[in-house]
Amino acid sequence: MEYIDLRSDTVTKPTAEMREAMANAIVGDDVYGDDPTVNKLQEMAASMLGKEAALFVASGTMGNLLALLVHCQRGDEVIVGNKSHIYLNEAGGMAALGGIQACPLENQPDGTLALDDILVSIRTEDVHHPITRLICLENTQNICGGVPLTPAYTRQVGDLARKNHLRLHVDGARIFNSAVAQNVSVRELVDPADSVMFCLSKGLASPVGSMLVGSKEFIARARHLRKMVGGGMRQVGVLAAAGIISLEKMIERLDDDHARARELANGLKQVKGLVVDAASPFTNMVYLNLSEDAKLNAAQIIEEMEKRGVLLDAENMRRFRLVTHCWVDSAGISRVVNAFRELLS
Ligand SMILES: *Cc1c(COP(=O)(O)O)cnc(C)c1O
Repeated sequence: MEYIDLRSDTVTKPTAEMREAMANAIVGDDVYGDDPTVNKLQEMAASMLGKEAALFVASGTMGNLLALLVHCQRGDEVIVGNKSHIYLNEAGGMAALGGIQACPLENQPDGTLALDDILVSIRTEDVHHPITRLICLENTQNICGGVPLTPAYTRQVGDLARKNHLRLHVDGARIFNSAVAQNVSVRELVDPADSVMFCLSKGLASPVGSMLVGSKEFIARARHLRKMVGGGMRQVGVLAAAGIISLEKMIERLDDDHARARELANGLKQVKGLVVDAASPFTNMVYLNLSEDAKLNAAQIIEEMEKRGVLLDAENMRRFRLVTHCWVDSAGISRVVNAFRELLS
């Protein structure tokens, strides 16, 4: 059976064009800096984001970890959202591997950290205090609904960071979804950031890899630390070749994923037993709850939907996140809506 997989946009498989580019990639030993395909991808990423340099890394988690390790010393503190991926879903890497302490602030419903909350959480100089070193934003903010942060907000946080001698890192796993949804350039969106991580392996459909972007000095340090954590790869141009296709061919079409998410939300709003979040979707994620009188719980729905060829993931027993991507078309969306209706009516 051909499954419709809405668990995440990480499930996207490489396109035919990517597989061909991977097969034909010119490669070298990237630890020596000798892989022309990796070098090309890194130059493209840096230039698109308006930064000096970029580094291909194995995963978004590795990219965020390297950023934290470059910006912070042991015992330093990082201001992060309490619903951020860095805080919740990166296995405590900053603490375990960097000796870095998180200062989690409440993510507002719009995905932002309130400027006043940031200001009051910056530590004063005192022998008792850790040193606040870094602010991390997530764009799009996943758990707040896949909501994009605006260039204006990011600018405000960047200004605040600079005034207080802090750095700003953007976890931009889905930064291109954010840029496309707001019809702004990604360059403008990340201009206030000292460093940015974005994923090639989500909506951009590459099989593996993320990019870390920043100043030349920052990237040189990150390259050293990448080796330390075992992320120095060799003929990795076979993966970078797919990444180049992601940047050339897969960005503008993210609009389609957002349109599919709107179709899905509109369809599911008509299904008894489901309550789609009022503002959802902002980008490629639809968040919804089961109503009080829904006949099945999330685990039962996941099991039944799988029999109908639809793969889902639940946040908890009553809440779902459904993610659209390039392997789901309008016909697939109709199938999903119909399967929900059949199950719950
Ligand atoms: C997926 C994701 C990451 C990490 O990426 P991996 O490649 O899965 O390690 C980081 N931040 C956010 C917001 C993500 O969604």
